[in-house]
Amino acid sequence: MKPVLELRDVYRTYRIGESTVQALRGVSLTVEAGEFIAIMGPSGSGKSSLLQILGLLDNPDKGEFYILGHDVNTLSDDEQAGLRNNVAGFVFQQFHLLKRMSIVDNVRLPHIYSGLSGNFTEEAKKRLALVGLENRIGHTPNQLSGGEQQRVAIARALIRDPLIIFADEPTGNLDTKNSLEIMKILQELNEKGKTIIMVTHEPEIATFANRVITMRDGQIVSDERKDGASSPVAGYKESDIDSLGGRTGSLWKDRRFIGFTVQAFQAILANKMRSFLSMLGILVGVASVIAMLALGEGAKKAMQEQLKSMGSNMLAIMAGSSMFHGAAQGSGAVARFTYNDVDNIAKITPLIKNAVGGVSGSVRLVHENRNWSSNMGGVGYEYGTMRAALPSVGRWFTREEIQARAKVAIVGVTVVRELFGSTNPIGRTIKINRINFTIIGIAPAKGFSGPRDEDDMVMVPVTTAMYRVLGKDYLSTIYAEVSNPASMQQAKSAIDALIRKNHHLKADDESFNIRDMTEIQQMLTSTTQTMSMLLGAIAAISLVVGGIGIMNIMLVSVTERTREIGLRKSLGARKSDIMLQFLVESVSMTISGGIIGILIGIGMSLLLSYFAGWAVQTSIYSILLASVFSVMTGLFFGLWPARKAAELKPVEALRYE
Ligand code: ADP
Ligand code: MG
Repeated sequence: MKPVLELRDVYRTYRIGESTVQALRGVSLTVEAGEFIAIMGPSGSGKSSLLQILGLLDNPDKGEFYILGHDVNTLSDDEQAGLRNNVAGFVFQQFHLLKRMSIVDNVRLPHIYSGLSGNFTEEAKKRLALVGLENRIGHTPNQLSGGEQQRVAIARALIRDPLIIFADEPTGNLDTKNSLEIMKILQELNEKGKTIIMVTHEPEIATFANRVITMRDGQIVSDERKDGASSPVAGYKESDIDSLGGRTGSLWKDRRFIGFTVQAFQAILANKMRSFLSMLGILVGVASVIAMLALGEGAKKAMQEQLKSMGSNMLAIMAGSSMFHGAAQGSGAVARFTYNDVDNIAKITPLIKNAVGGVSGSVRLVHENRNWSSNMGGVGYEYGTMRAALPSVGRWFTREEIQARAKVAIVGVTVVRELFGSTNPIGRTIKINRINFTIIGIAPAKGFSGPRDEDDMVMVPVTTAMYRVLGKDYLSTIYAEVSNPASMQQAKSAIDALIRKNHHLKADDESFNIRDMTEIQQMLTSTTQTMSMLLGAIAAISLVVGGIGIMNIMLVSVTERTREIGLRKSLGARKSDIMLQFLVESVSMTISGGIIGILIGIGMSLLLSYFAGWAVQTSIYSILLASVFSVMTGLFFGLWPARKAAELKPVEALRYE
C-alpha cells in the first residue's frame, strides 16, 4: 500500500520585501496510514510551514510531494481544495470557529463544499456527541469555553470522515486539564484508525504520539518511533484514492446555492445598521425612479386621454401670439374673431369639415347660499359633437337656444358637487355673475389635465356668454375639424391666409396662432423623452453611487473576514465557492435595497396621487427595470471584492490579524 503522504527534499522560502526566510530546507518524510505524529522543535523552526504543506494549505517551492501516490505538483487549485475537503481535517490553535453560526452549523460547514446532498445536521450532532458536547447543541461559539471550542473544531474536522487530521498546536490556547482532554480525544481517534499529524512544542503533549519528529532551522534533525508502538493498524480503502478531490454535485442539486444565500443573509443581519446604510443609495435611487416614472406615466396618460377627447384632426385657432401660453396672453395686438371668420373657415371645402367659435372667462356661480368660482365657456352648437362634450345626463343646447342667447347652462361634475352636493341639478336655477340660468345638463367627466380640473366649468351658448355675461362682441377661439388628418398642413395655411385676409394682417403679424394637435402630441412625446432621459440619468447616477457604497462595504467585509475565508478554503472551498458566496452577499444586499426602494416608491406615488391629486401610474415595467438594475449593480460592484476574496491564499488568509 502506498504511503499516505510522502515528501522528498522539499523547500519553502518566504519573501518579505527584499529579504527571504528559508522556512524549510530539504525536508524528506514519509507518513504511513494510521500513524500519530508529533512535530516538535523550537519556535520558528518550520513546524507550521511543514504542516501547511502536508495539509495542502501551501505548496512547496521545490521538491516532490505525493499524497496517496498522487503527485501534488500536478494538481490544480480546485483539486487541492477537493482533497482538503475529502481527506483532510484541520484543527488550529485559534479554533477558527465562525462566531455568528451555531456550533452545529460550524460542524456542518465542510459539507457545503463536499458536493453531497442530504441533511447533515444529524451527522453534525453525532460528531458533537463524540467529543462530549451533546448538551451544548444550539449554542454559539461565544457561549463556550476554550476547551469546548476546540472540541467543536475537532468535531468539524471529523464531519467528512477524513483520512488525516492536521493539528497545529491544538492545545496551545488551553490549560492543562483541557489539553489532556483534547489529547485523549485525538488519541482515541488514532486508535480508531485516523492518521494524525500534530505540531506541538510541549513534550507532555508529544508523549501521546507514537512518532516524534524534531525540527531545527527548517530541517528534520530526528525522527523517532516510540518503542513498542504498534505498527499502523488501519490503512485506507483503494476507493479513497479514486474519489480524490472529486466533486460531482451541481450548484443546485447539492443545495450549495441555498447554503450561500442563507449565509449571505446571516452576514447581512449580523451587521444590520451597516448593511442598511450601505443599501440606502440603491434604495433612494430605486424609490425615486419608481415614483418619478409613475408620475411621468400618469401625466402622459392624462395628456393622451385629453388629446384623444379633443380629436387628432382638430385645429384650434386662438387669439394671442404665444404658442403655448394660452389665448390672449401674447404681447401686442390680439385678433378678435367674428362669426364671419367661423363661417368662412367652415366653408373651406373640402379641407375643413366643420368649425365652431367660442369665448371663455372666469365667473362667479351662486346657488342658494353656496357660491363657487369657475370657468365659463361660451360654445357653439357643433362644439358638443366636435369636442365630445355632449352631456351624459340631460341634453345639449338647441340651435334656437344658441341663436336666442338663451339663459341655459351645462355644468361640470365639480360644479355640481360644490353647489348641489348629491342632489340632482337638472332643471334648477343658478346665478352666473348674477344672471339666472337654468341647468339643462351635466357635462361628461374629464378628470384632471395636469393640475387643472377639467370638470370645474360651466358651458353656456356662445351668444349668451358674449353679449349677456362677458360683454364681449368677439370670439376668442375657433375650433376647426379637418376632413382628412393627412391634409392638416394645407388646412392650416388655408385658415392662416383667410384670417390674415379678413383682418388685414401682415404676414409676420402674431396676433393669433393655430394649434395643431399633432404638434402638441409631438411636443408631448419629446417632453416625455427628455423626462425619460433625465430619469435614466438620475437612476444611473444613484445606482452608481449606491453600487460604490456596496463595493466599499464588501471590500471592508472581505478584509474583516479574511480569516473566515482562509478557514473556508482550508475546509475545501474552491475559488468559485468563495467568489459566489460574496457575490450572493452583495446581490442580496442590492436586491433587498431594491425591493424596499420599490415599495417606498409605490408608496410615494400613492401619497402624491392621494394628497396632491396628481395622476400617477406605476407600471410593471418600471418595477422589473428597477429589480434588474439592482441585481446588475450587485453583480457588477460585488465582482471585484468577491474576486479579491477568492484569490486569497489559504495560509496567508488564516494568518491575517
Ligand atoms: P514554527 O511553526 O516552527 O514556529 P513557522 O513554520 O511558522 O515556524 O515559520 C518558520 C519561519 O518562517 C519563521 O522564521 C517565520 O518567521 C517564517 N515565516 C513563516 N510564515 C511566513 C510568512 N507567511 N511570511 C514570511 N515569513 C514566514
Ligand atoms: Mg507554528
